[in-house]
Formats: sequence, structure tokens, C-alpha cells
Amino acid sequence: MEELIYQVDLLSAMNRKLSRDEKMLRLICETSNNGILYYNYEEDRVQTIANWSYFFPFTITDLKDLTKLYECVEDKDIIPLQKVLFIEEQGLKSRSIEVKLKDKRICIEVEVNIVYDSMHHPTDKIIRFKDVTKFNSQNDELTYMAYYDLLTGLYNRNYFVRLLGEFVRRAQDENETVAVMFIDLDDFRRINDGMGIIVGDELVQVVGQFLLELMNDNIIVSHFNSDIYCIGIYCPCGARSVETIYRIIRERFKKPFLLTGGQEIYITASVGVAEYPEAATTTLELINCAEIVMFKAKSLGKDKIQYFDGAILDDFLNNVSIENKLKDAVFEQNFTMNFQPQFRTSDRALRGVEALIRWKDDNGKMISPAVFIPIAEKNGAIIPIGTWVIEESLKAYAEWKRKYNYSMIMSLNISAIQYKQADFIDNVLSLLKKYDISPNEIELEITESILIDDFQEITEKLVKLRDIGMKISLDDFGTGYSSLSYLKGLPIDTLKIDKSFIDTVISDENTQIITESIIYMVKKLGFETIAEGVETEEQFRYLNEIDCDNIQGFYLGKPMPSKEIENLLANMTA
Ligand code: C2E
Ligand code: CA
Ligand code: CA
Repeated sequence: MEELIYQVDLLSAMNRKLSRDEKMLRLICETSNNGILYYNYEEDRVQTIANWSYFFPFTITDLKDLTKLYECVEDKDIIPLQKVLFIEEQGLKSRSIEVKLKDKRICIEVEVNIVYDSMHHPTDKIIRFKDVTKFNSQNDELTYMAYYDLLTGLYNRNYFVRLLGEFVRRAQDENETVAVMFIDLDDFRRINDGMGIIVGDELVQVVGQFLLELMNDNIIVSHFNSDIYCIGIYCPCGARSVETIYRIIRERFKKPFLLTGGQEIYITASVGVAEYPEAATTTLELINCAEIVMFKAKSLGKDKIQYFDGAILDDFLNNVSIENKLKDAVFEQNFTMNFQPQFRTSDRALRGVEALIRWKDDNGKMISPAVFIPIAEKNGAIIPIGTWVIEESLKAYAEWKRKYNYSMIMSLNISAIQYKQADFIDNVLSLLKKYDISPNEIELEITESILIDDFQEITEKLVKLRDIGMKISLDDFGTGYSSLSYLKGLPIDTLKIDKSFIDTVISDENTQIITESIIYMVKKLGFETIAEGVETEEQFRYLNEIDCDNIQGFYLGKPMPSKEIENLLANMTA
């Protein structure tokens, strides 16, 4: 009896467990997004469960009716589906396939699993249907992002490099050439800063859309970043020669680009061109070379195309090596200061000196500030260098004053980046205090290009510096956008006429007329004048005649170390 009770208990416990399992399976099926078909061979019974009705508007009760599915899928999918649905005919265990449902316009994954017994006879068949449309479109999106630039629809940088690599390999096999055009919009920063980055972005986009039209089997176009585009051309000749493509670009750039806000923007671009195999044999080097020559095009005045040549690359490499050496030089402060005297033309009295930095690299080679200052401005080294220059110059000046008590002007060359430092004025003031020098013994030199790039910010600072009592001098006048009318509004005291005028002032009548009218006008505006680069007696006399206030140049004094300035002062004060 006990045994029987035990058996009944066991059975009801098993039943409870079974109904729990059944409930669990039902729940799993009901909450699944998949459609499932289950077939048991022994019972020859087909069941369609879970989310079957989402996929098909009919149920299947007989395995033969699986053929109904063929009517639901696209024609191209019928035969592959057939193979997968009946894999047991080939003794296979599992297979899946992706097909498209015609009416529902969705992609589904069909996965078939067969369970076999020990004699390898099929016992159960489970077919699972899963909607993968969304998954696929996400995948498509990812694929798109991997190859294309979202802003312009052009190839992105990575994919471009890959495709260019294929061009280069093909060119190797076929003994052909590949050209890379590196395109950088000119003065893009001004558009971004002045009109906002939304306008900037839209401009990049519309330019990109225009460049997209150039694309074909042999021309690939990419948006590299910001305002930079790169074009790769396989076998550039005829209709797809670099010249032709550049002409098309230039023609388009002659017209404005129209933005959605109604703005019409005129722009220009600088283009660098490098070709395989002439410039480089690898893809990345080729792009680098094109970029380097693009910079050359920019430095030659923008809106230009520049073709690769070895000298440009050498120059660039030389600059890179200077840049590297410069880092050490800043760290070790391997610089010295020279001072070039400036004399009053009327009586040749010493008006002041201009502080000029000197750098001898480790091999004892003099590197001109005209070469390394622009590099230091680009990599930020100008900040510590500039501070050092100011301190060294003031230190020397304090020493001269202490020894000779001669009051004059110390002229300092200051870069735009220095002016833009928030603490620039405070730093100068504290150094003046440290060396007990009055602000009106100091003159700061600026160039026109500084003013053109950041007019507002820098003029505000200059006004403050003048209020404190320092003089401001406009350097290299005549080399930039010089217009006499705009001088009127500038907070300056002194104007330095560039050496290029002085060089030809004796031989060229036009230069004479210009120089004379500059001096005449400038004096009317109340500025002091200094002629730079005066090398001969004749130039000196002429400048005296036309009333130029001061002269600076090899004729009366080259840049010299502090000790030699002391000799000069000793003679002056003797
Ligand atoms: P700059 O300010 O125009 O300086 C005048 C340049 O002309 C100096 O060249 C000077 O040596 C040279 N020079 C003066 N008189 C004559 C002459 O009669 N004949 C010839 N052929 N040349 C003459 P340097 O010292 O090589 O400086 C070149 C440029 O480097 C400077 O041009 C200035 O723009 C920059 N620079 C020099 N020192 C500094 C500095 O401490 N800070 C900054 N930011 N720039 C500096
Ligand atoms: Ca200067
Ligand atoms: Ca100058």
C-alpha cells in the first residue's frame, strides 16, 4: 500500500513538473518574436507555434505544405530555400538562409534543425523564422559609415586610402600612373569663425556634392576632414587629366556656392598634386606628398595648383628637422640675442635698437629666424622663445642704461600668437618692473598679416599697450595688403618701410614715387618713419632728402651682440 501511495505521489509530482515545463515552453513561445514550425516524424504531426502568424497568413498541418512558403518569397530565393527546408534528404543537421518575403517586404532568416536517432533516422524537425530586416539595415548603416563620409556622401578617408591602394597596385601591374589631388579650401577658418560652423559644414557639404559629380570608375573622391578633399585618378590623361579636373573645379569655384540660408559664398582652393610612381610608391606617401605640395600652393598665395617636385619635399623635410632641433633648442635655450642699431637720419644719433634672435644649432650651423620663427609659430614654441627674447632684451637694456645712462628705444618683434596670450600684457609689465624700465622706452613691432587675421582682438590689445605708454611699430610696410587709407585707423606710432622698397629706390623711378608719397602721407598721419635695409651711402642720402626720420641697415650698423652695442654707447656718450 505504501508503495502505491509513493507511486501516486511520484506521478502527481511528475505531472506538476510537466505542466510547469509546458507553461514555461508556452511562455517562451508566446513571447518570442520568432515563428516556429515543429514536426515529429513518428507522429507525422506539424505544429506552427510562437509568432508564426507574423510571418505567414496560413498555418501548415502537413509537411508537404511547406512548399506554400515558396509563394511567399522572392523568385530568386525559391531554389535556395527549397534546399534548406529539406536538408534531412542530404542527411544534414542544421542550415540557415536569408530570404525576402515578397508581400511583407521584410528579410527573414530561416534556420532548419534536424534531430536524428542513433540509426541516423530523423526524429524531429524544427524550423525557425526570424525577422532580420532591422538588423540588416543597421548593418547597412554601419557599412555605409565605414565607407562614406556622412556630411558629403563622398568616400571617407580610410576607404579612400584603400581604394587608392588598389589603384596603385593596378598601376604597378599595368605600368600606369596614379595621381592624387589634395584639395584644401582657402581661408575656410574665416568662414567657420565668421559665419558659424553650421554654415561652414554646409559649405563643405555643397562643395563635396559638386566634387561627387567627378567620380567614376577611374576617379575616386573623398572628404578627408574639415575642409580637405582628396581625389585619386587612375591613369590621369585626356578627359581625366589633372589639368582638366582642375579646370572643372576652378570654373565651378568662379561661381558662388548657394547655401540654404540664401547665402552665396565665393571660395577658392589650394591644390597639391603628386603622382605614382614619380613622387612616391606607396599610397600613404603619395597622399603625404600631395599634402606637402598643397601647403606650398598655399604659401604661394592660395587659389593655386602646385605639382610635386623634389625640392619642395626637401624643403619640407628640412623644416621638419628644424622643428625637431627647435624643441631641444627651446629646452636648452640655445639662442642668443643680437641688436641692430637704428639711427636718426638728420644727425645720425642712436634712436634705438631692434632685438633680433640668433640660433646656432648643435652642428654650429646658423639658422635664420626668418626660417625658424614661422616654424616656432606653428608648433607653439614661439611662446617660450618670445618670453625669453623679451627678458633677455630687457636685461641687456637695463645693463646699458646702468652703465651709460643713455635713453633710447628697444624694439621687439612680437608674433600674433604672443599678442593673443591672455597674460601677454601682464607678463611684459612685470618684466618692465623687474628690470626697472619705463614702458615708453619699449616699442613692439607687428606685421600687417597679424592685423588682417585677427584685427579686432589684436587692435584692442595694442590700444591697451599704447595707453600704458609703449610704442607700436608696423613692420615690413609695403609687403602686405598695404593701403595708406587703412593706416589711419591703426593704433600705431611708427612705420617701418620694407627693405624691398629701399633696394630699388635709387634705380627705379616708380619705387621712388611710391616711397616719397608713403613718407609724405605717413608724416601727415603723425607717424614716425624708419627705412629698413639701408645698405649704401646713396640710399642714406636719398632717404635723408625725402625726410625719412630714421634708418636701419648694414650701412650704419649690422645686428650685433650686446657688448658691441655697449661700444657704440660708449662712443656716443664719450
Ligand atoms: P625683420 O623684423 O624685418 O628684421 C629685419 C631683418 O633684416 C633682420 O633679419 C636683419 O638682420 C635684416 N637686415 C637689417 N638690415 C639689413 C640690411 O641692410 N641688409 C640686409 N640684407 N638685411 C638687413 P634677421 O635677423 O635674419 O631676422 C629675420 C626676421 O625674423 C625678422 O625680420 C623678424 O621677422 C624675425 N625675427 C627675428 N628675431 C625675432 C624675434 O625675436 N621674435 C620674432 N617674433 N621674430 C623675430
Ligand atoms: Ca622687425
Ligand atoms: Ca622688417
